[in-house]
Amino acid sequence: MNKLLIIQIDALAYPVLQKALTQNLMPFTKSLIDKGWKLEEIFSGLPSTTPAAHLGILYGATDVVTGFRSYDKHAREIIDASDLKSILKIEEIAQKRFHKVLADICFSVCVIFSGKSKKSFSHANRPKTLRDSTAFSKPLLAYFTQPISTLLFFSRLLVYLLLIRLEDKKLTSELPSVGTAKGMLKRLGEELLAAEFAYYVTRQGIEQQENVIFTDFIGYDELAHNYGPEHPLAIYYLSIIDLYLKRLYRQRLTKNYELMIFSDHGSTLSMPYGLYFHETLGQSIQKLYPQTTIFEQKKIIENSPNTTIDLFLLYSGGLALIYDAHSGVHLSQKQFESRFPKFAEKVSKLPGIDLVVMRKNLDFIAYKNGWAHVLNLQNLSLILATLDERYRAKVYGQLIKLLNSEFAADVFVFAGKLDPNTYACFEDQIGAHGSFGGMQTQSFLLTNKIKIAADKIDQIGDLHHYLYAYVFSGSK
Ligand SMILES: [Zn+2]
Repeated sequence: MNKLLIIQIDALAYPVLQKALTQNLMPFTKSLIDKGWKLEEIFSGLPSTTPAAHLGILYGATDVVTGFRSYDKHAREIIDASDLKSILKIEEIAQKRFHKVLADICFSVCVIFSGKSKKSFSHANRPKTLRDSTAFSKPLLAYFTQPISTLLFFSRLLVYLLLIRLEDKKLTSELPSVGTAKGMLKRLGEELLAAEFAYYVTRQGIEQQENVIFTDFIGYDELAHNYGPEHPLAIYYLSIIDLYLKRLYRQRLTKNYELMIFSDHGSTLSMPYGLYFHETLGQSIQKLYPQTTIFEQKKIIENSPNTTIDLFLLYSGGLALIYDAHSGVHLSQKQFESRFPKFAEKVSKLPGIDLVVMRKNLDFIAYKNGWAHVLNLQNLSLILATLDERYRAKVYGQLIKLLNSEFAADVFVFAGKLDPNTYACFEDQIGAHGSFGGMQTQSFLLTNKIKIAADKIDQIGDLHHYLYAYVFSGSK
């Protein structure tokens, strides 16, 4: 068995990484490329979100996760990748369908799914179980008893404090949820600890000689969501990650681990739909259908005291999944619109909306600005004028997969551009992913000995087959 260390820099888009390298902000990563490591752009697939990537990499399951949040019509339950019950449900589906998977042997750190290995320190488990909280506290305690680490932590926090002072006026006006400088510093401190934690536990994994270690450095994703993918606060974090990579690179040498570094998706500059239009998508839809009670993300929007929910609206950045709450099966356009007449046409005319997709007989139909197009490969360039041509077939394949998946919505809504550089986002985020457009699907892959045909990757989870083959075949 070949030993493998997989390091993920969550949400780091290929173009942002390239800029950071050119500006020498990630000198260690640059040194790997100078040594002959191969840096490539890979297509993240849809939805461009972490649970889809993690389930794919661990199991090879690329068609189970429909969004960061989705709705199980059959069980009438919301699925949320930050909720442990949902995570176990998704993982159970993957475990039933896929055998001989990386999940079984993987020591995973801050990864959403933990597999059967029982050795994982998962992202979602963190605050929920005692076992995990003690697992988390040990490495952190060890960390803070070392004077140099403590000094490093506080000096980084000081750099952040200076950056916040510099950026203060620009930042506080943008996102109400980001709030004050104090709130920012708290968040940044948490993300610094998260990176430290990931590093420490990964190092333990190396010392224990685990066969496969998969670590997600999640902090940049969080900072990109709140400040934007190229904001100085987020970019400074990348320079810190680069130092951890350097230390892990050295440590894994003595134990003969092959290293692969990648991102699960990108992040693109966005503006919250609710902030821009002064109403949420749910509120816009309710204006079109006033008698409707809508469950939007985490709260109910109603006009009359009618507590029966008619529609579920669940978001992954710029991707909105809409489900008719009264039916337990996937609905066609005709069935859905018998309750909500001309829904696709009307919603596609809302500002900030790019595309509305529904089922029609055995096909799919896409609405743009009120006009219907049959969703096929030829039509896609017409419908998605901004689509990168290299990705046309991949985006088409991913859309069809999404529409046919287990937790598929009745209506898929994709956010559009608000200006040439900014996409609408259905959540309160300055940096969004989940949908396509901008840098959302532009992941990166940095490899040395593992051979991966990057252009054949349709979804980041396709990496599973290459990684599994590397670990078990002894191929070099
Ligand atoms: Zn992610």
